[in-house]
Amino acid sequence: MIYFVGAGPGAPDLITLRGKELISRADEIIYAGSLVNPALLSWAKPGCAVYDSASMTLEAVIERFAAAERKNRLTVRLHTGDPSLYGAIREQMDRLDALGFAYEVVPGVSSFCAAAAALKAEYTLPGLSQTLIITRVAGRTGMPAHEDLRLLASHQASMAIFLSAALLGELREALLEGGYPADTPAAIVYKASWPEEQVLRGTVDTLPRMGEESGITKTALVLLGRFLGAGYERSRLYDPGFTHEYRKQTE
Ligand code: SAH
Repeated sequence: MIYFVGAGPGAPDLITLRGKELISRADEIIYAGSLVNPALLSWAKPGCAVYDSASMTLEAVIERFAAAERKNRLTVRLHTGDPSLYGAIREQMDRLDALGFAYEVVPGVSSFCAAAAALKAEYTLPGLSQTLIITRVAGRTGMPAHEDLRLLASHQASMAIFLSAALLGELREALLEGGYPADTPAAIVYKASWPEEQVLRGTVDTLPRMGEESGITKTALVLLGRFLGAGYERSRLYDPGFTHEYRKQTE
């Protein structure tokens, strides 16, 4: 059996209980070495075979899965954060389907959640934004034309930008062209939940400077939107003047 497991954003105790338990039972672990905290591997049982997928191709990963399946071994494929975001798991699952091997996916705490926690921020503030756009700047992986950052920016929703810490000039330009005011609050969160976590605050306009001055070029998220500023409406959910299914109006 193969389990795709979300490792969480970095801090070992931000993996799920299910994920931890699977690590401790695994006969083989293939982990995304550039981002997964190796401390998680300390839960592996003695004799567990551990492979870093950073130097492997998709074919090599599938070959390892297949070899383990032929011996009836339990394999954990550890992906950073939640595997459903930029995890390249679909291509692995499709090959496993074709080979007839069973697998399950165990979700994880994505880095966009850990980054919001580091900032003590809420993406969805009444009156400001009820939408979070998760996206990236085009790098070696291109962006579909209908998802051009300028178009996404035109919504002025809250945004969490992955994989783009080295492309802050392009990011700033697209956000401004798309209609974000230059003074829209923005933050760079480096290695959220790791001991070396760093939080930088500024505006859409100052993003490239924040990147240059800090020297951060990877393992960082850029968050931006008015949710990082002051001013919002209080929630209806906890408003004394508002009745809902679980609570009667008290004012
Ligand atoms: N599946 C992962 C994302 C993998 S893509 C998730 O759910 O978080 C890798 C990108 O994720 C990095 O370039 C960076 O933008 C972001 N990232 C991963 N871990 C991070 C962390 N601890 N802090 C900030 N950004 C992180």
